[in-house]
Parts: sequence; structure tokens; C-alpha cells
Amino acid sequence: MRVELLCTGDELVTGLTPDTNSPYLEARLFELGIKVTRVVLVGDVREDISRALCEAAARAEVVIVSGGLGPTSDDFTAECAAKAAGVPLVEDARTLQFLRERAAKRGRELTPNVARMALVPEGSEVVPNPVGAAPLFIVRMDGCRLFFLPGVPREYRALVDGEVLPRVRTELEKQSERTHRAFRLLRTVGIPESVLDARVAPLAAAHPRVVFGFRTHAPENQLKLMAEAPSQAEAEAALAAAESAARAELGLAVYGADGDTYTGVVARLLTEARATLALAESCTGGLIASQLTAVPGASSFLIGGTVVYTEQMKMAWAGVPAELLERHGAVSSPVAVAMAEGIRAACKTTHGLSVTGFAGPTGGTAEDPVGTVYCALATEGAPTRCERFSISGDRELVRLFAASYALELLRERLLTAPSAP
Ligand code: AMP
Ligand code: MG
Repeated sequence: MRVELLCTGDELVTGLTPDTNSPYLEARLFELGIKVTRVVLVGDVREDISRALCEAAARAEVVIVSGGLGPTSDDFTAECAAKAAGVPLVEDARTLQFLRERAAKRGRELTPNVARMALVPEGSEVVPNPVGAAPLFIVRMDGCRLFFLPGVPREYRALVDGEVLPRVRTELEKQSERTHRAFRLLRTVGIPESVLDARVAPLAAAHPRVVFGFRTHAPENQLKLMAEAPSQAEAEAALAAAESAARAELGLAVYGADGDTYTGVVARLLTEARATLALAESCTGGLIASQLTAVPGASSFLIGGTVVYTEQMKMAWAGVPAELLERHGAVSSPVAVAMAEGIRAACKTTHGLSVTGFAGPTGGTAEDPVGTVYCALATEGAPTRCERFSISGDRELVRLFAASYALELLRERLLTAPSAP
């Protein structure tokens, strides 16, 4: 089924309001196995809207239009719809009555501009709006069904969920030959996008029903697998095969799938291991603590932590010996190790995690330039591990990846030795 979305409004083409209606509907349609073929944004210009309606109706079987149904002078989508369909605008008596009662409830008279919301193209199906004033109307044109919805996101969503999707689903079920889809998002950390692509690209040939796609959302890189087949069972089988091949290739780099969050996964691993954690953060300034405490129930594993930004506080709060700082500098492997071990001892936790580095844009040394970060993990009954990372990017990115790499040390350890000693 070819479905197109058309959103109208000057605010959408002048950078004032981002179009959030389309992503909402795209996701709902995708759950039904429909991939929207085109999304068009048009400003509040009558001819442009009428033309866009005719063009979309000629291409698609279903067009979902948002915006321009309100009472203000820049709302004229109904007028454009009538023009495109070649019919007059007529007053819908039920809507007019509803608008009159709605105004009365608010102690107001029905003004002419509000009454305009009862005007719909002749012959259209009119559906009341459960959470607002302007109704949904449905127009048929050239074998295409066009749904006209108010642009206000709350009203748009209510009408999408309650009225549009059930009709689309019914239509879909009538089609005997349709494409079924199954989708999985594999979430990875620690491997660059180009490496991810190079590693999974060879798998694609063996899975012709699955489209491999990529998405970066720093510090994550995601692999999107979309299977298409004549039946849902075949789509799901094709997806399962591609997913297991991708997981086998990527190993521990895949931390989760679909709606999983990285910190949610780390939190679950810590909780399952009945392990506790303490943090000593320098260049990340509490970012790791902030990320972990965003997970509900973090108090079951996160005991505490410190932001030890100066050498003085690295000594005072994380127990780093002065001599190490003098000899190696604050951004060094021995200091990262001492921070992790010191904070673990102070907080009496299973794990102690530390980060120290040069976030930039100034600072750094010849051997350890800006972007150099040392992360260490001290664990009860295990040798302390320290890694050096070279992160490129601005200050924000260095801090973001530093937090991610540090947590990766922890996740790896939890996966390889999951139970508490
Ligand atoms: P309208 O139905 O055109 O009067 O739109 C009413 C309000 O809803 C606008 O002022 C915008 O703030 C908002 N809106 C309209 N279209 C969209 C859209 N596609 N995405 C997000 N908000 C929108
Ligand atoms: Mg508008």
C-alpha cells in the first residue's frame, strides 16, 4: 500500500516548528508493516497545497494530511481539498452543532471563524474530533483516500490512533498480496560506523530478504535489519536468521536491541550480579553518575562517587598518592588505576570505575594530546584493568565517549564474570 504524508503550515517550512506529526504516524504505520513512501511539507499557500494534494492523490492509495483546519485566516486546507477534488465546500450540520455546543460550554457565542471549521468538501466522510474542535474528514480522489487532520499534535495523534489507523488496517487486510515486514534494531557501542558496515556487509548476500541499514547516535552505532516477505512468518524467519548472523559477527559489541538503553542494560547486569559500583570521575564531571542515576532503581547498585577535578581532590577523595600525580601527571594510567582502586576502597563496592583525560580544546601533552582518556576498573578479587583511548571530536564528544568507554569496561567485566564473588 502506497501511503504518503502531507503536512501544511508556514511554521513547518520556516524553522519555527519541527514536524513531529509525521514521525509519530510513520512509526505507527511501520508497526502495521507499511513504509511511508513520501513525506511532503508545504507552506500556507493555497495553490501549493491544492497542487500537492492532487500530486499525492495521483501517486498514493492513502494520503494523510495534517494542518490548516483551524479557525485562523491561515487555515484553508479544507478549501484546497475541495478545489483539488473539484467539489464545493458544504456545511456539516453535525459539526456545526458540535461547535455551537462547545462554544456554549465555554460561555461563548459561535463566531464566524470558528463556524468555518464545519465547512468540508462535499461528499466527504466527517468524523468528530474527540479532543479538539476541527473534525477529521475523508475525501476520495482518483482511487485515493485522503485523511485531513488538525495539525495540533495532541489532536493529530488522537485521530491517528482512534480513526485513521483502524481504517488503514481494515484496508490492508483486504489486500491479498501484500508485503509483510519485520524489523530489528541492534544497538552497538565501541565500534565505528565504518567498521560496523564492513563487518556486516558480507552477510547481506546470504539474507536477500533483509535490508541492512545503519544509524549513528553517538556514542552508539545501530544496525537496522528490515525483512520483507509475502507472509509475516517468512518475514520473521528471515529476520531471525539475519539477526543471529549479525550477532555472531558482532559479539559483545551488540549491547541490546530495539527499545533497550545502554545504561538500562548496564544497570540490569549490575543488579543481576548483585554488584555495587563507585565512581571517580575527572573529565566527565559526573556524566557517568548522571547517566546511571537516570535509570530507576539505580540505588540498588550505585553506592556513590566523586567528581575529582583537581589533583588535590584526586588525593583527598580518591586516595591517589601525591607521588603518582607528580611522576605521571593526572592524565595517566597509574592515576586512573589509583582513582578506581581508591574509590572502590572508600565506598566498599564490588567495582570502582574511574575516568581521567583531556577533554580539550586546550591542554594535553605531546604524548597524551587532547582527546586522550584513561579509564580504569577495579574489581574485588580481580586485577585492575586500565585502558587508554584517543577520542577525536569536540569537548562534548570527548566527554560522551569517555563515559561510554568507561562503562564498556564495566559491561565487559559483568558479561565475562557475571556473578558476585
Ligand atoms: P494548524 O492545524 O495548522 O492550525 O496547526 C496548529 C498548530 O499545531 C501549529 O501552530 C503548530 O504549532 C502545530 N503543528 C501543526 N503541524 C504540525 C506538525 N506537522 N508537527 C508538529 N506540530 C504541528
Ligand atoms: Mg497551520
